[in-house]
Amino acid sequence: MVPQLHVPTIAVSGSLQRFPVRRIYCVGRNYADHVREMGNDPSRDLPFFFSKPADAVVGSGQLPFPTHTAELHHEVELVVALHGRGASVSVTDAAAMIFGSAVGIDLTRRDLQAEAKKSGRPWDMAKGFDRSAPVGPLRPGIPPAAGSISLSVNGQMRQSGNLKDMIWSVAEIIAALSGYVELAPGDLIFTGTPAGVGPIKRGDTVRGMIAGFEPIEITFEE
Ligand code: MN
Repeated sequence: MVPQLHVPTIAVSGSLQRFPVRRIYCVGRNYADHVREMGNDPSRDLPFFFSKPADAVVGSGQLPFPTHTAELHHEVELVVALHGRGASVSVTDAAAMIFGSAVGIDLTRRDLQAEAKKSGRPWDMAKGFDRSAPVGPLRPGIPPAAGSISLSVNGQMRQSGNLKDMIWSVAEIIAALSGYVELAPGDLIFTGTPAGVGPIKRGDTVRGMIAGFEPIEITFEE
């Protein structure tokens, strides 16, 4: 028998409907303070894209600790969900593509990413592993251009930034990404993280927050 596949989904705030996920794209280096903390120069290094598998998405809850890492890092991000389709979309037309937005955590095996960078190898195993894309409930509508974005580990604040400090705005991200790939209903875009990324240990509870959004909260098994 051929296998039956399930489309991964995420919750929609105030609705029983779930949003089906087609693809997950991510933006790297979209906040200057995070570019600096990673040892790069925000005036020279433009944001760029990578991806995660659609079924890497998970909601709040308990997660097994990922294999093959001694340096699992959190990156809190605004996640944009698309209901429109388009290739080479203009910045002006980008807003019409947006279904809603949510708080997400771009989980990263930083040790594997550092090795990959050093040896010029792909990032897939550092970024695109199982359950590497926790996302909270989607808030329908256009995301705010400003507002607090933060993350705590066991109640201690680790990341604290503002959406207004994104180097590329959400509309600019959609326009740029749609020049490389056709975007379609069900696509999620992680829009980059502010400074303060850091390690997660077994047993930690990680909570991602954006003002006015339902949080995402994950706890790693011991
Ligand atoms: Mn990220």
